[in-house]
Amino acid sequence: MGYAKVRSVALHGVVGEVIVVEADVAPGLPSLIVSGLPDAALSEARDRIRAAVHNSGASWPQQRITVNLLPAHIRKHGSGFDLAMAVAVLAAGAGLPIGRVVDAVVLGELGLDGTLRPVRGVLPAVLAASRAGVGSAVVPVGNVAEARLIPDIAVRASDSLGRLIGYLHGSERLPDPVTPSAPPEPAALDLADVLGQERGRRVIELAAAGRHHIAMFGPPGAGKTMLAQRLPGILPPLGDQEAIEATALHSVAGTLPQSSPLVRRPPLQAPHHTASVAALVGGGSGLARPGAISLAHHGVLFLDECAEFAPRALDALRQPLEEGVVRLRRAYGETVFPARTQLVMAANPCPCAREQQSCRCPSLVRRRYLARLSGPLMDRVDLQVDLDPVRSAALFGTEDVEPSKAVAARVLQARAAAAERWTPHARSNGEAPSALLRHRRFRLPAQILQPLRQAMDQGRLSARGFDRVIRVAWTAADIDGRSTPDAGDVREALQVRSRRMR
Ligand SMILES: [Zn+2]
Repeated sequence: MGYAKVRSVALHGVVGEVIVVEADVAPGLPSLIVSGLPDAALSEARDRIRAAVHNSGASWPQQRITVNLLPAHIRKHGSGFDLAMAVAVLAAGAGLPIGRVVDAVVLGELGLDGTLRPVRGVLPAVLAASRAGVGSAVVPVGNVAEARLIPDIAVRASDSLGRLIGYLHGSERLPDPVTPSAPPEPAALDLADVLGQERGRRVIELAAAGRHHIAMFGPPGAGKTMLAQRLPGILPPLGDQEAIEATALHSVAGTLPQSSPLVRRPPLQAPHHTASVAALVGGGSGLARPGAISLAHHGVLFLDECAEFAPRALDALRQPLEEGVVRLRRAYGETVFPARTQLVMAANPCPCAREQQSCRCPSLVRRRYLARLSGPLMDRVDLQVDLDPVRSAALFGTEDVEPSKAVAARVLQARAAAAERWTPHARSNGEAPSALLRHRRFRLPAQILQPLRQAMDQGRLSARGFDRVIRVAWTAADIDGRSTPDAGDVREALQVRSRRMR
């Protein structure tokens, strides 16, 4: 007979909230009533914890047990409350001393045999506990490396309920899992591998330096995929705050490696063109999973063969790209995932995916194929370029091709220059709003804009296209260390924007 409470964390997206799991044991027919969990999870959790307690050698109180998760208005998803519920029940009904976890949040799913299983979202959960002033956390051994990324909170780990019970009785020690030393991170793919695609290398550098979304069009063999895969390697590594944010999303998705969980390199996500809307933007029942666009937070979302994606899938990306967050409408409200990503699209010019000479697609088919990509999504893509196939002669050339390291250094200083210029309105040229580009402080002199005016008069450039060219011109200037774009930068920006359709 008695009452006890243990703390845990409920997650909503990547936002955690400390909750209380309370248990009351009273005389009466043996029963277990759980409240505060969504219906579907209730019965499963009940059966799991009862079996786990039995199989851990502890005795389940043969009385009327009530377990409640507080506060009631917070939605609680996932199986991460099992351990806290089991400990609270044993403390209330079987005299388990819980002094050693009184200052802790307790996280973990129980197997029927009492083993403690890793759960998704431990990193944001421990972060929330730390921010709420909680002093320590008890997590499954499989989650210990990510939990320890959060400073200022003591992390203890157990592999089973039985061992935790022994620890609480003072008869056993918790293992101190040594995080396996991380295998050296595989080197990022190097731009030096991309031979004979000077133009492609230049536009990928512009994309990196200005944080411009980019669309590359060209036949197979133009190196579109190679270029896209090498973009993360020339982007600045994530800062501490960015790294934790990105890692939290991968934690909720359950995709973190157990060793070296911290995401430091800008992540690259390349969903297949058959990917569902949920796979792209997130969803699922219970604890929602982030989609590819959120797993690419602070990194790159690469849509290869983008014309093959379902129109509604591409459409679903539009709002997140605009806002930098995904808003998932759920039965009980909204789940928000960060999604500040750089979009890279690649497409063949026509559905047959052959080189121009051998393509027999009627021009109407070709036009229709890429027309699927027009509209509001492409309006956000500053760099839209045609790439020619690489000629074999270029592959046997002996010229020195610049490695990613050298390009990354230029990208870094260009980013810094842009961030300083646009602060506090934008952090990169790609994010600079049109009004800012036209502000008299930043307006470019009429004579260097002449080629643009001409292109507009001839109907080759729209008003939106005009702004996009200006953004890219700023990036070209930043790369070369000039404080404002000159006529050459504007010409280059117009040139790399070679899409003939728009
Ligand atoms: Zn064709």
